[in-house]
Amino acid sequence: MHKVYKMSRAMPSLCLQVIPMDMDDIIKRIKKTVEPHRIPFDDPWKVLISTVLSQRTRDETTGEISKRLFQKYPDLEKLSKAELKDLEDILRPIGFYREKAKRIRDIARILIREYNGIVPENKEELMKLPGVGTKTANIVLSVCFGKDYIAVDTHVHRISNRLGLVNTRSPEETEKKLMKIIDKKYWKELNSLLVEFGKKICRPVNPRCNECPLREICPSSNYVA
Ligand code: SF4
Repeated sequence: MHKVYKMSRAMPSLCLQVIPMDMDDIIKRIKKTVEPHRIPFDDPWKVLISTVLSQRTRDETTGEISKRLFQKYPDLEKLSKAELKDLEDILRPIGFYREKAKRIRDIARILIREYNGIVPENKEELMKLPGVGTKTANIVLSVCFGKDYIAVDTHVHRISNRLGLVNTRSPEETEKKLMKIIDKKYWKELNSLLVEFGKKICRPVNPRCNECPLREICPSSNYVA
């Protein structure tokens, strides 16, 4: 059993009560409630591009637009030669489509020019690409290459704080804290589970605590019997 410890928010700060949280149990309960979120592409470059497109955009929109994009541009070579205007037209429904159109074409060009058209399996190299931050790099590394990274997006950040696993202000800080307190065996799947859990149960606004499998152990629960 893998335990992490959280502070009880019910206690005054000078008298903090340490409560063990059983991560095996938390993961098991979440898995019984939601199916993990799956990125519908296998090629690393498609995962990379669709993750860049997903920033500040709903998953459903990202999935649909990515499919349309990859139908028209089925390989990096073609994407690298795309007309910006055409990319903008395809990406129009997603947030920041103009910036993203330029970004993904630049990524395709850089991958061809500097990496032989192969997505690097290295976080430092990935983060040199335009629009690729730690979350995007971690998703590519964990989903495509099976590496142990925790991809912290807004869902993972929010839920980890609500559960009292961390007390942090930014996803970057959350990533560092979670890596210290959560066993490596959970790192890869944490994002896909919490994304779905965050969309269906622990929503940003009006979390569905009454239906939540974690309501008895969550310090933020507004469960009403
Ligand atoms: S009890 Fe409520 S706040 Fe806590 S994890 Fe569940 S839905 Fe989120």
